[in-house]
Amino acid sequence: MRRTIISVVAPVYCEGDQLPEFVASLTAELGQLKTSTGLDHEVVLVDDGSSDNTWEVMRTLTAQYSCLRCLRLSRNFGKDAALSAGLAATRGDAVITMDSDMQHPASLIPEMVALWRTGNVDVVDVCKQERQVESLLSKVCAMSFYRLFEMLTSYDLRGSGDFKLLDRKVVEAWKNLGERKLFYRGLTSWMGFRHEQIMFTPCLRCGGSSKWSLARRVTLAVDSMTSFSGKPLLLIGIITLLFYALSFFVGCEALWSYATGHARSGFTTVILLILLTGSAILTGLCIMSAYIHHAFIELKGRPRYLLAETLEAQNTDS
Ligand code: UDP
Ligand code: MG
Repeated sequence: MRRTIISVVAPVYCEGDQLPEFVASLTAELGQLKTSTGLDHEVVLVDDGSSDNTWEVMRTLTAQYSCLRCLRLSRNFGKDAALSAGLAATRGDAVITMDSDMQHPASLIPEMVALWRTGNVDVVDVCKQERQVESLLSKVCAMSFYRLFEMLTSYDLRGSGDFKLLDRKVVEAWKNLGERKLFYRGLTSWMGFRHEQIMFTPCLRCGGSSKWSLARRVTLAVDSMTSFSGKPLLLIGIITLLFYALSFFVGCEALWSYATGHARSGFTTVILLILLTGSAILTGLCIMSAYIHHAFIELKGRPRYLLAETLEAQNTDS
């Protein structure tokens, strides 16, 4: 009879230096899990177009660990696309997604698997008790994004991350999602199924640095909001109504001043009104452009990622 398999997917972008340490600690944890529960495992690493020696390191590791499979994307497609490539390549009955910089502790895997094995849980979300060490600006931006995202979509993603366990049926449902632009943590919430949470405090990065610049975070925030909610488009209507009200008020006030002989020269007022109107029009255009850009990407229907190479371990020790 086929044994139950736990798959682990980890996206990797320029993590060559710390990858051996990550794979060693992960496989040690999975080895212990196998001894205590009899569950088999596989590890799928996805090189997201790294420019350092990540792929060479993966080649060496594949010769060392029999449970390892590695995919190399043709360029950097972003973490969510790399996760998608990894999920599509898994064969396990449950799939765990985690970062390869050791900020997601592998020691939580037994608890995640135990929850899944109760049969009452399809998705285990490992949520941050507190955010990782980061600048005040990043913290404020992240909190504002999550607050805005919740207002627009009613999904509360505060504390949630990409460290998750998905049952095979959830992975199959994920593979059937048609969209090109992916927001992993948002989509897994949107998909539903039975969720359970485990809390954790993120560890420090084991080396290297975060690959998320402010510009990348802003792009992700705009993409995720345009893909999850059409409400910002309604904002244009609200701005328009406000401007009708403002025009009516200013118009009445000007006519009254003229009629009573108190008409002001009004240079400052005119300048202010022009600036205000211009800003409102540009805000509306920005919102519309974000949706047009999103629709443009989806309409082209290009693949989410392209695979350049795959590696599979041949030996039997792990
Ligand atoms: N990552 C990726 N592609 C990217 C950026 C990041 O595959 O374009 C991987 C990275 O190697 C790591 C994980 O995604 O395993 C999380 O990235 P990072 O640590 O930079 O994000 P942070 O923890 O700062 O949010
Ligand atoms: Mg990290």
